[in-house]
Amino acid sequence: MTDPAEQAGHADRFAELSQSLQALRARIAAACAAAGRDSGEVTLIAVTKTFPASDIQLLAALGIADVGENRDQEAAPKAAQCAALGLRMSWHFVGQLQVNKCASVVSYADVVHSVDRMRLVSALGSRARAAGRTLRCLIQVSLDAAPGRGGVPTSGVLTLAGAVAAQDGLELGGVMAVAPPGESPAPAFRRLRGIADAVRAEHPGALMISAGMSGDLDEAIAEGATHVRVGTALLGGRPAFVR
Ligand SMILES: *Cc1c(COP(=O)(O)O)cnc(C)c1O
Repeated sequence: MTDPAEQAGHADRFAELSQSLQALRARIAAACAAAGRDSGEVTLIAVTKTFPASDIQLLAALGIADVGENRDQEAAPKAAQCAALGLRMSWHFVGQLQVNKCASVVSYADVVHSVDRMRLVSALGSRARAAGRTLRCLIQVSLDAAPGRGGVPTSGVLTLAGAVAAQDGLELGGVMAVAPPGESPAPAFRRLRGIADAVRAEHPGALMISAGMSGDLDEAIAEGATHVRVGTALLGGRPAFVR
């Protein structure tokens, strides 16, 4: 980076990200305090979809260690760029996943948040074993059982969790959900917490609750979220057509 204009842009963006991160950290701390929780219990995952690897580099300099992406076509090259920059991030795949993308996702992801059907369990397991790695998986729960947005209905969670736990190459991390649109998030996250408790009763190591985004992370933290996935509130708005 020798171009002075580019360097100035980099400095502006750093100041911008630094400011929004500070505000976000304060918001998370306040939500934790209100819930009687320690801020250290909540990990911030920066959802960097549509934003460039250079932003991840700046976020890393600001102390962010976890990044989330929702499309393999975008995430795979970005992860490679970050590796070339010498960044060692934890990569969270948070989007709907197709079986034919599993090999690619396993090559860079540390955690997949969106395991919602049996077929993915075997596909991710065989790819993880082939790559000689252990992939942490969360069961994505559909809190309203609406089709099309991903997630297994509540009634199927324990069976799927058992399958992940039994699959060599995979490790059951916990559960993930997106609050259903058109419903207030607090009761939805309360249901997720009940489901997480049921999963933990059978799998004591499955401690993660991935819940809460820019608009509802406060409610998620009140209901026990251990990982919040934040895009807009940290990086700014995305073009409207991108999921
Ligand atoms: C994009 C995305 C987020 C972040 O959403 P924001 O509202 O921008 O914070 C979180 N989780 C998933 C699954 C996403 O796709």
